[in-house]
Amino acid sequence: MRVLVGGGSGFVGRELTRLLRKRGHEVTIISRQAGPGKITWGELESGGLPPCEGAVNLAGENIMNPLRWWNDQYKKDLLTSRVDSTRTMAKAIASSSSPPHAWILVTGVACYKPSPTAQYDEESRWTPFDFLSQLVKDWEEAARLPEDIAKVTRQVIIRPGAVLGRDGGAMKQMLTPFWLGLGGTLGSGRQPFPWIHVSDLASIIMHALDPPTKPPSTGPEVFNGVAPAQNTNYEFTKQLGRVLRRPTIFPVPEFVINSLLGAERAAILTQGQKVTPKSTLASGFQYQYPDLTSALQEIVGT
Ligand code: NDP
Repeated sequence: MRVLVGGGSGFVGRELTRLLRKRGHEVTIISRQAGPGKITWGELESGGLPPCEGAVNLAGENIMNPLRWWNDQYKKDLLTSRVDSTRTMAKAIASSSSPPHAWILVTGVACYKPSPTAQYDEESRWTPFDFLSQLVKDWEEAARLPEDIAKVTRQVIIRPGAVLGRDGGAMKQMLTPFWLGLGGTLGSGRQPFPWIHVSDLASIIMHALDPPTKPPSTGPEVFNGVAPAQNTNYEFTKQLGRVLRRPTIFPVPEFVINSLLGAERAAILTQGQKVTPKSTLASGFQYQYPDLTSALQEIVGT
């Protein structure tokens, strides 16, 4: 299979690319920079969709970039980098004479309103309530294919929680303070912490790229990209401390996180959603890292 991956040079994209190539598939990355095995977004717009059986979009300005202040320009960059790249790929698919059999967009669980009690699965109804949930709505809408194309191209949306892996994402920023024994719960620690191991996320994307066994439904299928284990930030913190054999006695107060990241963005860490991967499991997907212990042991290498 030939797979086109927007943002394939990033944290999740590197894992997906490794997995696809290991299984003998060909990968072309869409990037802002030209290079071997890559095309640029401008080339996609001007030259149309290269021949491919699968297309995935992972591109977007990093939401947790600690070097960027939470301001209007950053929010605009977060939105346009996701919505424009997704729209460009969807347009290229729609105008292709040979559209791929699968089109996968990876968004996030920020569409579900944080709550210590509500339980969300893929069928849960939601309406935007803040910047990030509105972003998810605009992003997912930008991926929609016209009805005639949707009859041949399976549309899948994957909504991951925090993606855990050694080479990027949240763990990369957390490992040093935890190693130094400076790790601790964020805010109260009672907030749900939806997460997934990066290998499992790459495997869910692969699973969604598989040729469909029945004609695609015209609307997108949704898979929550979270582990089946449901954990709080406290449980995550204590488990990480245990696998690293380090104390985790320094809670970080919510006002500190709010002032460092901006309250709207800090909500990703200080609040959280209980998300279940009901459709992901029902589709037959089997997790390699279903619980925190196995995921963190692999990441930390114990
Ligand atoms: P990365 O931060 O690693 O970025 C992916 C790629 O996006 C980069 O390699 C880059 O490719 C491209 N990119 C970055 N900034 C821009 C920009 N301003 N305009 C256009 N392209 C840009 O993302 P991840 O791999 O961590 O995540 C993949 C997707 O999954 C993202 O959309 C993310 O929001 C979502 N997600 C990730 C989570 C996580 O914990 N990592 C959690 C939930 C959702 P290049 O430089 O080649 O152009």
